[in-house]
Amino acid sequence: MSVLLQIGRRPPEREPRPASGAAPGPLGLDAETRVFRSAHGAHLFVADGSRIYDLPEEAADRLERWTAAAHDPAQDADLAAGLGLPLWGGAGMPAPRIDGTPAAVPPLSSLSLNVMQACNLSCGHCYADEGRFGGSARAMPRETAFAAVDRLLAEAAPDAAVVVGFMGGEPLLARDLVHEVVAYATRAGAATGHAVRFALTTNLTTVRPADAELFAAHPFTVAVSLDGDRAGHDALRRAPGGGSAYERLRAGLEVLERHGRPRHLSARVSVTPYTGRLLDILEHGIGLGFDEVGFAAVVSAPDPAYEIGTDTFTGFLQQMVECGEAALRELAAGRPYPFGNFQTAMYELHTGGHRPYPCGAGAGYLSASAEGGLYACHRLVDDPAFAMGSLAQGPDQGARAAHLAARHVDRAEPCRSCWARYLCGGGCYHEVTRRGRPGCDYIRGWLAFCLRAYVELSQAAPEFFRNPTASDLPGDPAALAR
Ligand code: SF4
Ligand code: SF4
Repeated sequence: MSVLLQIGRRPPEREPRPASGAAPGPLGLDAETRVFRSAHGAHLFVADGSRIYDLPEEAADRLERWTAAAHDPAQDADLAAGLGLPLWGGAGMPAPRIDGTPAAVPPLSSLSLNVMQACNLSCGHCYADEGRFGGSARAMPRETAFAAVDRLLAEAAPDAAVVVGFMGGEPLLARDLVHEVVAYATRAGAATGHAVRFALTTNLTTVRPADAELFAAHPFTVAVSLDGDRAGHDALRRAPGGGSAYERLRAGLEVLERHGRPRHLSARVSVTPYTGRLLDILEHGIGLGFDEVGFAAVVSAPDPAYEIGTDTFTGFLQQMVECGEAALRELAAGRPYPFGNFQTAMYELHTGGHRPYPCGAGAGYLSASAEGGLYACHRLVDDPAFAMGSLAQGPDQGARAAHLAARHVDRAEPCRSCWARYLCGGGCYHEVTRRGRPGCDYIRGWLAFCLRAYVELSQAAPEFFRNPTASDLPGDPAALAR
């Protein structure tokens, strides 16, 4: 029975199963598939390979009734074979792309430098505790920053492009160092044959003309923290002396406009229970001229009052879907609408985004503390559970391998039986270790919306998928599911 029309581009399949020895996977239809509907009918999402197929209504109805009722999972493979579903259990079916084997430790490709573990603002929702990560404020010495660049180039694959990230705290409080590192890394990369790109996350309250010129002269992605309009932003971001952090951010945008704009300028909104209507903030950010505006729920903050919890995730999902519907409407009509979470999800689904980890933390991506310690990512700096060596000794390959082995999504509960696991990857390590997984219903709800939107957008505006614009820098590699 050939009932399915596959949509989108997909990664290559692995060798088909031999005619003999085909065996059902260890998980049932609940974990391997999800039926969904769009304006174009019923569809099947297959977790393995993030594949999307058209599905006859009769088959969709049968599958839904089967999975909703109490059933014997041992019979799932028979039902799948009877309906002609492209799943395990049949001769000639593709072997699973992910089988629980931990990823090999890859060469380093991105390293972020916590150049200033201090900040000029005071925000209750800051995961970094104003950059101190629970310790004292400090700056990265120049020799440590240069050693970080040397280490990145030494550990990178030959000829590969690498990314140097500047994080904090507020990295522009260490602007002289940022300028020096950019010049040094550009020279050093040219000598070793590595193209070096840069990423910087900032509150944009202290940017100067020389910084803007630097951003424009080099391949920079700049991510700006934006929490709303003036009232909303200032309510969450307290400037010293009672000034307006929002007005300073607007002044910073003018500096960029006049003196040099980075290649990619995005706004990142940290969503708390106090954040205003997301659609208003999204349109405000787009109106300010950002290339992309994205949201991230604050799941772990020094003050729990700022955290989105299980109860508030429901409202967060509704607001994200409201933004997603606006993006779908505009993009389907051929008009740009740079809602970052939506665009990322669309491109991931189109290319069969498929991974057993939430991000590259601890794999191709590491973060260096001001003291030269290496950690899995910028949010996990100074956390001994995520220590991964040092600039002096190099990355701890054993710690990285153990991290990848322990955190494969197929080895995590309850992730291993979640249909969204290869799109979600099991959740941000920083959030999971501090808060567990309070946002799973949100993640699955957002992805279910995105599946429907993907089918409708691919029919209405296929040209959207020919010109990807999503950022590929490491500010937040897990944007898809957040
Ligand atoms: S974190 Fe939640 S949504 Fe993500 S894979 Fe695990 S169970 Fe699924
Ligand atoms: S998603 Fe990954 S890179 Fe981003 S904060 Fe979490 S662990 Fe770090």
